[in-house]
Amino acid sequence: AESNRLEQVVILGASGSIGTSTLDVIARNKARYNVFALVAGSNVDVILKQALEHKPRYIVMQDERAALSLREQLSNTSIEVLSGTDSMCDIAAHDDVDIVMSAIVGAAGLLPTLAAVEAGKKVLLANKESLVMSGQLFMDKVKRHGATLLPIDSEHNAIFQCMPLDVQRGTKSDFSSIGIRKILLTGSGGPFLTRDIQTLEQVTVDEAVAHPNWSMGRKISVDSATMMNKGLEFIEAKWLFDCQADDIEVVIHPQSMIHSMVQYQDGSVIAQMGQPDMRTPIAYGLAYPDRIDAGVKPLDFSAMRDFTFTHPDYARYPNLKLAIDACRHGQAATTSLNAANEVSVAAFLEGRIGFMDIFKVNEQVLEHSTLNDLKSLDEILDMDSQARRLAGQLIAKQG
Ligand code: NAD
Ligand code: MG
Repeated sequence: AESNRLEQVVILGASGSIGTSTLDVIARNKARYNVFALVAGSNVDVILKQALEHKPRYIVMQDERAALSLREQLSNTSIEVLSGTDSMCDIAAHDDVDIVMSAIVGAAGLLPTLAAVEAGKKVLLANKESLVMSGQLFMDKVKRHGATLLPIDSEHNAIFQCMPLDVQRGTKSDFSSIGIRKILLTGSGGPFLTRDIQTLEQVTVDEAVAHPNWSMGRKISVDSATMMNKGLEFIEAKWLFDCQADDIEVVIHPQSMIHSMVQYQDGSVIAQMGQPDMRTPIAYGLAYPDRIDAGVKPLDFSAMRDFTFTHPDYARYPNLKLAIDACRHGQAATTSLNAANEVSVAAFLEGRIGFMDIFKVNEQVLEHSTLNDLKSLDEILDMDSQARRLAGQLIAKQG
């Protein structure tokens, strides 16, 4: 071993589903990792509990009042409590930090994640929305600043594991010269795979967030029900693996045991399998290229009954088609779709629009957006706010 220094980890989105799973993996591997900072939105209770257990050097809350409350409750400790996006960026880029887990939900994750990239950190990317928003700019920065980007989204983590070393290291990406035919991006189809399409308008919030295989935050759970999640992942895969829309095929695999596959020109298909438990890709990202304990029980093949695959039906999942079309269209379309979808999903979760209205709002925002080429971060953020405004207006009209 080179040194016994613990690797210092910042967890963006610590109080969420991925954040909590990350802390669980770290707790099992205390000889390797130390929590440097917890970053979250406003959940004081969860962060307080995590802080007392993991004793980070810093906490950063988006919400000023949450930060005040934590500062008071932790006044007898040496933990420093900060607030706001600038502090999140400073902490993600801190000299003493080795690894940044990017697991804030939505566009709010973009700036802190880019700060980690610009500081050349090892970045574990769960926050797919930041890549969907800013793909080219994001990947250019990874290259320019020598950051190490490891996908945590289970599908992309699986694809990464099935890729040749040259692709993992970013030294080669031309699929045909490496002998890759296609990425097979798998998805479960969510809770409404077999539900009568005519009744999708009546889907309730509780039905939409009840995923059959995975336990996740509310936004991504709704995205899984509409399969917008697979659409965002399609765009995410294009950027992560430097390929085109034609190189990616979505396959429905309801059992979620295969997490995605890579098909080679010689006829081989390499798949990564495992329990539907995010601690596996999190542990892989933390330790890459080593392997560590993730607390995940081994797959039991004798308990597996069905193992099935189908093609997605776009009539059932119009958001998936919308996202794939946006991916072909380019950066402005994907930035705008991501923003529209965050607003429409939030409105659905608040009971302001119906389940199928999520698609209608997303589609109309794309139709009404001026899709100029986006280059700078300012242009991307402008496009994002323009799409959010438009989505807000469309929702207000419907309500
Ligand atoms: P979650 O809703 O459970 O947690 C979100 C976290 O982000 C919380 O800690 C919250 O406090 C924090 N947050 C929200 N707004 C913030 C802001 N403005 N500033 C700072 N922090 C803020 O979500 P999740 O399921 O953990 O998902 C997190 C990300 O990981 C999403 O981008 C999601 O797509 C991705 N992801 C999640 C899973 C999963 O299994 N949960 C799988 C793949 C990818
Ligand atoms: Mg996923």
